[in-house]
Amino acid sequence: MKTLVRCGQLFTGRDDDAVAGQTMVFDEAGVIEYVGAEADAPRRTREDRALDYSGMFVMPGLIDVHTHLAYGNAKSEEDIDLYTPLEFRALRGMFFAQKMVAAGFTALCSPGDAGQISLSIRNAIRAGLFDGPRVMAAGRYVTTHQGLTDWYPTWIGAPETSIGKLVTNIAEAVEEIRRQVKDGVDCIKIALDGIQRRDNGELVAAFNQEETEAMVRETHRLGKKAIVHARGREATLYAARSGVDLIFHANHLDDECIAAMLKTGSAICPTLTQPKNVIDFTQPHEPAGQKGRPAAAKREYDIGCVNWKKARAAGVPMMTGTDTGFAVTPYGEWNARELELFVDDLGFTPAAALRAATKGNAGFMTGGGRIGVLERGRSADFVALDFSPLANIGMLQERSHIRAVHIAGKGVRIAERGYDPRQVTDFALSNWTELYTRERVAELNKQHARLAAE
Ligand SMILES: [Zn+2]
Repeated sequence: MKTLVRCGQLFTGRDDDAVAGQTMVFDEAGVIEYVGAEADAPRRTREDRALDYSGMFVMPGLIDVHTHLAYGNAKSEEDIDLYTPLEFRALRGMFFAQKMVAAGFTALCSPGDAGQISLSIRNAIRAGLFDGPRVMAAGRYVTTHQGLTDWYPTWIGAPETSIGKLVTNIAEAVEEIRRQVKDGVDCIKIALDGIQRRDNGELVAAFNQEETEAMVRETHRLGKKAIVHARGREATLYAARSGVDLIFHANHLDDECIAAMLKTGSAICPTLTQPKNVIDFTQPHEPAGQKGRPAAAKREYDIGCVNWKKARAAGVPMMTGTDTGFAVTPYGEWNARELELFVDDLGFTPAAALRAATKGNAGFMTGGGRIGVLERGRSADFVALDFSPLANIGMLQERSHIRAVHIAGKGVRIAERGYDPRQVTDFALSNWTELYTRERVAELNKQHARLAAE
């Protein structure tokens, strides 16, 4: 049995244009056999099925290379690491993976995990137990003292349930990488930014050049991809020189970093959505507001935009990903905002943004040669929209306009389902955000009185 899809507009991901009146044919396994004019399509037999998307814009399913299935829409680092059992996090992660599909994302990379959550979600979907996206899974971040994800005091360390795995030398790092690969990860995530700064404000890298190279070499020897978190210049440079496959953030990259990226082939996922949401959504009364996070995020964002444009102009590949999984980036809500920001703030055309989120991202994904483009031999992972994102890229965030999602040919429909977010995350112990001195209480009373009088 074949399926013939009549497409109003077809955007294959290979070219910048959408073509009107095309037909796509895929087989029982969901592998595309034909894309082109209906007149030249294989003849339809009686068992074959037809899908009429002749009023729709059909394009490859979107891919997000930076979605943390383990985080659960966390409000704090403690929320990510401490309060929920790994088993609950896996169930929650499956629910949220499905939200990604409802938003038009047919594949994602989950870079940095606790336990084996993402790879369990991946395997359960792959085995046919649940509908869900294709998942590229990492294990825990490999981190060290001074590194991101080793954020608790030394006397606590990195708890077993946290997303960071603390290693203290090259041998331990290599051992952890081998263990994760044995467990079945697709990629290794390294926490390369430190948490210390030099006098000039520059972030100190957590690992040195030699250690970074040793980790990346071992990852590649085992046939896996290496990802790093690196905002700072130093970490970005070490990563690029070591041939890391994908660098998240890279806000402070310079010419030396660009030259190294071009030499080794490192790509950047600048991850605009998370900082942009912090800037746009954080309320003054929230701890993040009181700590000045939005202003700091704005500074980093503006510096990043200048540098990312430079890197792109030099020919460094740019991938789309959002850092979904925080309270400011809930699953499926803002993932497509990344494409809008690629257009607004990095100067991409809508077509270039769509291609980055499909063909471009597929180039990084495990098994990516089978997805990302609608052409013969690849998998029929696609979405049907009732508008053209080439005309309105922002509308991709409106889920009601995503009329169908197919993964390996199969139509996947995720029912809208309400839930109680307070039973899902936010178990951290902080209860108050202010200090109620006599003076502050008097001030608040005055405010209340003023509001009552108005
Ligand atoms: Zn992240």
